[in-house]
Amino acid sequence: MNAVPGQRPGEPDAGSGQWRVLLVEDEPTQLRIVERRLTKAGYIVDTATDGQSALNKLSGNRFHILITDWDMEPMDGATLCRRVREITNLDSYVYIIMLTGHNEVADVVAGFEAGADDYLRKPADDAELLARLKAGRRILELEQQVQRLSMTDPLIEIYNRRHLIVQLPRDIDRARRYQRPLSIVLADLDDFKRINDEHGHHVGDQVLRGFAQRASTSLRQCDWIARYGGEEFVFVLPDTALPRPRRNCAPSARVRCSRPVRAACA
Ligand SMILES: [Mg+2]
Repeated sequence: MNAVPGQRPGEPDAGSGQWRVLLVEDEPTQLRIVERRLTKAGYIVDTATDGQSALNKLSGNRFHILITDWDMEPMDGATLCRRVREITNLDSYVYIIMLTGHNEVADVVAGFEAGADDYLRKPADDAELLARLKAGRRILELEQQVQRLSMTDPLIEIYNRRHLIVQLPRDIDRARRYQRPLSIVLADLDDFKRINDEHGHHVGDQVLRGFAQRASTSLRQCDWIARYGGEEFVFVLPDTALPRPRRNCAPSARVRCSRPVRAACA
């Protein structure tokens, strides 16, 4: 988790094109062929040979794209699609491409209705497979932009309350599951109303932005900060036991933010 909205954990780095693909295929030779093609094209590929293993991998890792065979036992590709779409706690949308030997329109329709985003007939042509993956990445990039906007406070460009409501329970669950400490600090700007009253809201907005920028620089990469509302902020500090933020983090944030914020008057 980045301290402030930007690239989320697991999001591809546009520069290096690090997209994570989970390839599910029960035929070993096919699996190796497609895996090699994808790896050669720059994708980070993990594989599974049955639906249940794929679901297990999806629940513990983040994948951007799932490519699945249709004909598998005991769980076929269409059932796998449905099961993936039923998972509600995935970090982001998983784009699903189904590889199928089925040629009937009714089969294709059934694949889409099961939750697939695209399909490719076997044997998959290299160029077509990569082109369809590229089309899927365009959809995922748009989804990531929408996600980023929906969880960012437009005024001060840190996480908003919506993100806090969604992400904090996940972080608490994760801390419990791995028995790791997690600290949460609620911070408030003293006398903020006076700044708005005496200097106007445009100055108040600059003070909020200045605070958010300084607070963000005092955080580690795994920490994050959200605007709770008004001049209230929540700091989430994974792997941090309570005494530590009391001793180090909160006072440090206070010192950094006690310096004056330069604000331009309108
Ligand atoms: Mg098969």
